Amino acid sequence: MSKSYQAIVVGAGPAGSSAALTMARAGLDVALVERGSFPGEKNMFGGVLHRMPSLEKIFPDFWERAPLERHIVKKGVTFMTGESCFSTTIEAGNYDRPPYNGYTIFRPSFDRWLADEAVAAGATLITRATVDDVVRKDGRISGVSIVGRSGQLHAPVVVAADGVLSFTAQKAGLRKATFDPAQMAVGVKALIDMPREMIDDRFGLVRDQGFANEFVGCTEGVRGGGFLYTNYDSLSVGLVFHLASLRTSGKTPYDLLNAFLEQPQMAKMVCGGRLQEYSAHLIPEGGYDMIPELVGDGILVTGDAAAFCNATGLNLEGINLASHSGVVAGEAVIAAHRAGDFSRYGLSSYKKMLEESFVIKDLKLFRNAPHMLHNNRIYQEYPEMMCSFMENIYKIEGAPKQSVTRQFLKSAKEKVGLGKLLADGFSAWRSL
Ligand SMILES: Cc1cc2nc3c(=O)[nH]c(=O)nc-3n(C[C@H](O)[C@H](O)[C@H](O)COP(=O)(O)OP(=O)(O)OC[C@H]3O[C@@H](n4cnc5c(N)ncnc54)[C@H](O)[C@@H]3O)c2cc1C
Repeated sequence: MSKSYQAIVVGAGPAGSSAALTMARAGLDVALVERGSFPGEKNMFGGVLHRMPSLEKIFPDFWERAPLERHIVKKGVTFMTGESCFSTTIEAGNYDRPPYNGYTIFRPSFDRWLADEAVAAGATLITRATVDDVVRKDGRISGVSIVGRSGQLHAPVVVAADGVLSFTAQKAGLRKATFDPAQMAVGVKALIDMPREMIDDRFGLVRDQGFANEFVGCTEGVRGGGFLYTNYDSLSVGLVFHLASLRTSGKTPYDLLNAFLEQPQMAKMVCGGRLQEYSAHLIPEGGYDMIPELVGDGILVTGDAAAFCNATGLNLEGINLASHSGVVAGEAVIAAHRAGDFSRYGLSSYKKMLEESFVIKDLKLFRNAPHMLHNNRIYQEYPEMMCSFMENIYKIEGAPKQSVTRQFLKSAKEKVGLGKLLADGFSAWRSL
């Protein structure tokens, strides 16, 4: 097999399919190469798809056509100690009106649908095809080779959208073959089937409303957090850990996930459900400082392959950044075709457009967040402080009370230490 295209996209995840769709819509002959037997086959994530203005622009009826689950009207965070928990929830009226603030989705159906839209626009989807190297001609990238198949695919430009470990970007020399575990996280997820009415009753939802909750203090001191998202008739529940911290703990992700599901507050939320499957995946959480070279001669890097994931501890945004960078990569390739220049200079509009977009602006703004999140106290001492403070506030003992400020200082002193609280407050202020 040896075929030529005007562009090759490696990976049919949100970044790759958005790039292929953009180029195919402009009339380019694009190959979208995916290792799975269908796009999304093995892809997993936590579960919330955030707004994607770039796709909405080229695809105005995006939200009506995409396979979505519930729209998120309620967002919450729970601090846990194993004994007690303290939750806060925002239920925003304007989250319950279109355009919605986010949806739960399933990757196999969403990724497949997005790739099909690229195909409908004219892209050629090649599945069960794992790219194992780039092809070079006159010192620049001019195609890819595929494992186990004789022959190669050729194009003047390749878009590397093959996810967090991007083999394509590595082979092109744009990123290192090894990664720093301090910049990487691993997520594990359990999908729990539950009747729709039970979910509605348990989480106070009506119609197609959904709930997204994050958890802190549920990882036995390992740096990380938990999540619970409602789908129509299932719950996505999981944990995300900093890889370096998980490694030194000697604990296994699945044991920690089972322990999380057995905590009394979690057990109440998932009871009556039936475990359907477990899955796991890496997340590039190093933020701005993790971004590799984005452009080479004949190649662009997008999505997780470019570390475009914004994990601030408040939200985890990945698909929206992946999709936007894919659209922008597609636009840069279209411009390069017009100019007939596929060198790093001819493709440089990619970096310029990204720098003007929320992708780079947000990653730059929250550049210090990944460092702040390496503070172990966030995952144990602070949840204990919050729970002890709230417990004391609501405790009525028939004895004279202390002021709320005194109660707060008491919990802070006991659980964290006032000096550390001040230092951590300053670090959070600089990071968020
Ligand atoms: C546990 C967890 C929770 C998350 N929660 C959220 C969330 O709630 N919201 C959010 O927005 N983001 C979330 N993310 C992040 C999000 O999933 C990613 O940022 C996003 O999937 C990146 O998209 P992508 O297209 O760049 O890469 P991917 O989705 O990884 O897609 C890459 C594609 O390339 C294919 N591929 C890989 N190598 C090759 C190869 N050599 N040849 C051919 N094909 C190849 C893969 O099969 C895959 O289809 C989460 C991630 C995890 C792991």
